[in-house]
Amino acid sequence: MRAAVYHGPGDVRIDDVQDPRIQDPRDVIVKTRTASMCGSDLYLFNGEVEHMVTPGRTTLGHEICAEVIEVGAGVGRFAMGDRVTFPYSVSCGTCFCCRTGQTAHCETSGKAIFGFGVAFGDLGGSQAEYVRVPLADGHLEQVPAEIGDEAALFLSCNLPAAVTAVDAAEIEPTDVVAVIGCGPTGLLALQLAGLRSGREILAFDRVAGRLDRAKELGAQPINVDSDEVDSAVAAATSGRGVDKVIEFAGRGDAFNLAVAITRPGAVISGGGVYLEQTHPVSLFDMYFKNLQIRLNGFANAKMGQWKAMQLMALGVIDPTSLLTHEVDLAGLPQAAAAFADREPGFLKMLIRP
Ligand SMILES: [Zn+2]
Ligand SMILES: [Zn+2]
Repeated sequence: MRAAVYHGPGDVRIDDVQDPRIQDPRDVIVKTRTASMCGSDLYLFNGEVEHMVTPGRTTLGHEICAEVIEVGAGVGRFAMGDRVTFPYSVSCGTCFCCRTGQTAHCETSGKAIFGFGVAFGDLGGSQAEYVRVPLADGHLEQVPAEIGDEAALFLSCNLPAAVTAVDAAEIEPTDVVAVIGCGPTGLLALQLAGLRSGREILAFDRVAGRLDRAKELGAQPINVDSDEVDSAVAAATSGRGVDKVIEFAGRGDAFNLAVAITRPGAVISGGGVYLEQTHPVSLFDMYFKNLQIRLNGFANAKMGQWKAMQLMALGVIDPTSLLTHEVDLAGLPQAAAAFADREPGFLKMLIRP
């Protein structure tokens, strides 16, 4: 089959690789209908986590809508032809972590993630014609008929992550909410936050096109490079600072911004992926503001998936408006470069292998 293979920083190629096959009775093999590339894939694509990948062999992608084409003898919940999606990480549903909602930390799969290299289970990714799904009964899900192939791929990562971060923020109708990082998941979180707060949301980013999109969604765009952040926050909050921050940029400077713009007693709900092992952050500032820090960036997507499905099936959220580009596998390398470069107008690609 053909699959997107990592060859080095910025170098993804579509190679012929071995077809996945059933290796364990609990496996299912699926044929990819739609896939995408997540912001977290950029850490791999850009070569920021070289220790996790095997150039020339690691395949990429963890977002998918697919069709079941082969079912292991030990699988009970799925049959040939089922239209399915998986959360980005493999979970068994029965271990301690799965039963306590920490599905990304599944002890049976060893925190395995589709298409995320040797550090996370060395599994094939969804940017491929076929994918092997281990422990399928534990985490694979049927896609409801109301949800199309294009929307369903948001169930793997983006929308469950947004749901989790917004839920953890415990937004009240009177809260001023800030969303830091207006990529696809941040924009979904912005929409969800808008359903809870009656106030205008403050949207922070440094990419003009993303801020434009946040404005279209009713938020006040604030460019962290060119706008007066302090005065904008003061004006929106009577000088106190924001009540809730949802942080999806996943960088240390963004976290520091979150701390800086909060009022005493605020909640910072982080959904971003932080790779900094050490980062200067003021414990004094966090202590002196009585901040509540709730990090869910290693998202338990399985836990947010049911709610994400309901939001889509009921038409509350339509994530397909975030799909700005459509490619087949051959077009993926060029689109990946455009995504990595934050090319104007680029938010998220739809891949039809
Ligand atoms: Zn993702
Ligand atoms: Zn488990």
